[in-house]
Amino acid sequence: MTKVLILGGGMAGLVSSIVLARAGIECALFERKQYPFQRVCGEYLSAEAEPFLRSLDLFPDSLEPPRISRFMFTSVSGKAQVMPLDLGGFGISRFSFDDYLFKKALGAGVKIFLNTAVENVVFSGHSFVVKTKDNEYEAELVLGAFGKRSTLDTRLDRVFARKRSPYIGVKHHLRMNHPADLIALHNFPGGYCGINRIEHDQVNLCFLAQRDKLREHKTIQELEKNVVCVNPYLREVYSGADFLFEKPEVISEISFATKTTVEDHVLMIGDAAGMITPLCGNGMAMAIHSAKIAGELAVRYFREKDYSRQQLEKDYTTVWNHQFSRRLWFGRTIQKLFGSEAASIAAVNLAIYMSPVVRAMIRNTHGAPF
Ligand SMILES: Cc1cc2nc3c(=O)[nH]c(=O)nc-3n(C[C@H](O)[C@H](O)[C@H](O)COP(=O)(O)OP(=O)(O)OC[C@H]3O[C@@H](n4cnc5c(N)ncnc54)[C@H](O)[C@@H]3O)c2cc1C
Repeated sequence: MTKVLILGGGMAGLVSSIVLARAGIECALFERKQYPFQRVCGEYLSAEAEPFLRSLDLFPDSLEPPRISRFMFTSVSGKAQVMPLDLGGFGISRFSFDDYLFKKALGAGVKIFLNTAVENVVFSGHSFVVKTKDNEYEAELVLGAFGKRSTLDTRLDRVFARKRSPYIGVKHHLRMNHPADLIALHNFPGGYCGINRIEHDQVNLCFLAQRDKLREHKTIQELEKNVVCVNPYLREVYSGADFLFEKPEVISEISFATKTTVEDHVLMIGDAAGMITPLCGNGMAMAIHSAKIAGELAVRYFREKDYSRQQLEKDYTTVWNHQFSRRLWFGRTIQKLFGSEAASIAAVNLAIYMSPVVRAMIRNTHGAPF
């Protein structure tokens, strides 16, 4: 019997494990892969998470992530606008950052099972049984940190998992000239592509496209040539940059659907509780924030005799909704401005002639620093 089992070792799982272990709560984490590994992500970390990460000595200064403070936005046809980013952020690869947090979690005393996929989790009235291929583990509390979509969503019969999602995500690392302080968001038909510097003078290029377009063009390469490169800025990047991966990282089934924060008594954190559209650039910060909230409430649950499971679940849902529901709604609404020729030109015009409106939109998808 362990006090807490954490299912999934991305941003949310690793950070929650560190919060718990440092508070003296025994916890173990299961990750189906082995660090370090690449993930599809724009790798722009919103500065809203900086104070919290620093307070726990989790900010990766040693990796020297570039600070990003300007935002460039281009329409499908290449109309562009650059504006300051009020809060800004950092460029850092998930390959390095997740590995950095993994080592911090080990240092905090978290027991980590690598290459171990959780196959099922069952609540039996007062405790949980977590099943992997070879073993069963028991715990008083379980945090679901398994990301945007996992076989566990199907096991738990979560409603959103019954529907297919229309998006795919693709990531490359490049060497090219790109200002360290600039994040660019380029539209192309049916999608958008973010470009920003990360550590070691590399550049991340990550795009979200429609699955139907991939089906139409058959391969990622053809999709890039015929759809992504319709935007003249992207055409220039693809013709001039050095592509560092042998082949890009690709994922499908990216769902922005509304999810439940507690499912069969499992507290969901990070994308498992709800995923913000990548164009907002703060999914990682939200995953870290939800890990902080769930971790701190779990510490209270173990320390205060009168603090019941029912109250814990109620408090987590209330705080989560207060922090994130509105942002997710804004993200979904703004996403509609991207991908079509007319809408992306309208959005760039809005940025040129009414930049306070656009800055207010950005503010509405971000939280205050925590
Ligand atoms: C195209 C795209 C671009 C993005 N760009 C950005 C960006 O620039 N900035 C930003 O802040 N956010 C961005 N995001 C969002 C960001 O990647 C996520 O919000 C963030 O990774 C969520 O963290 P998480 O811990 O919830 O999930 P993840 O980081 O996905 O981690 C989940 C972990 O659970 C593991 N897992 C899953 N199932 C099991 C199982 N059954 N057993 C054991 N382990 C399991 C997985 O292997 C994984 O390691 C982007 C997302 C996409 C799709």
